Amino acid sequence: MEKKIRVLVAKPGLDGHDRGALVIAQAFRDEGFEVIYTGLRQTPAQIVNSAIQEDVNIIGLSCLSGAHNELFPEVVRLLKEKGAEDIIVVGGGVIPEEDIPFLEQNGIARVFTPGTSTVDAANYIRSTQGQGGEPLMAAPQKIDHIGIAVKNLDESVQFYTQMLGLKLQGIETVESEKVRVAFLEIGETRLELVEPTSEESAIAKFLDKKGEGIHHIALKVDNQQDRLDALKNAGIQLINETPKLGAHNNMVAFLHPKATKGVLIELCEKASE
Ligand code: ZN
Repeated sequence: MEKKIRVLVAKPGLDGHDRGALVIAQAFRDEGFEVIYTGLRQTPAQIVNSAIQEDVNIIGLSCLSGAHNELFPEVVRLLKEKGAEDIIVVGGGVIPEEDIPFLEQNGIARVFTPGTSTVDAANYIRSTQGQGGEPLMAAPQKIDHIGIAVKNLDESVQFYTQMLGLKLQGIETVESEKVRVAFLEIGETRLELVEPTSEESAIAKFLDKKGEGIHHIALKVDNQQDRLDALKNAGIQLINETPKLGAHNNMVAFLHPKATKGVLIELCEKASE
């Protein structure tokens, strides 16, 4: 478990609106940060004292008053004075584009404009703490195959072999899925044509809804179960929490398209013989 990043959200200056700061504070909490909010009208000295007391990693300054060119560098200067320059200062609010170089030269690590999403800001903050750089899992080995839903397998095989010159590896029936599949070799990877053998098959439902076309992308992995567990723990919705035997002596498990930007992803691993 990574250490929680502590962020002080502070509003220096005299403007009396903190809705924006509160929204950012909440968004950062949702990103898993420990957030302390100072409240309105803080002086740079008060902000720096709170930051040191609360032992934060980041100070997020939000300023609408137009005084950012004085206030932000002053926070950086006071941090240095107190030997706390390891605390990173970022800024946001209403800041004209042309002020950003000045602020960055004066120690503001990053200035977020109103167009920056809080997700991007949070990712930046994580990167400053050496977090978020490591992916959840090691890279899959390759695209094992691309699954294509077809109405008529034999006709489709004919097209792919005769018209496109792909080599047929074999045709088999997968009873558990109520499908018949054909694998076609293409370099390192394959196409998997899938035809339903029953109206009950998920592929039949797919064809009804969307017609023929690309159905899924299968990534070849090792440690399949560990990966599924890690994804589940990260809140990724799975169709199969444990792998099941699929075509071609592969153990397969699907991730829910809702969690994968609309693409049905299969993780597959050769079953132990
Ligand atoms: Zn597949």
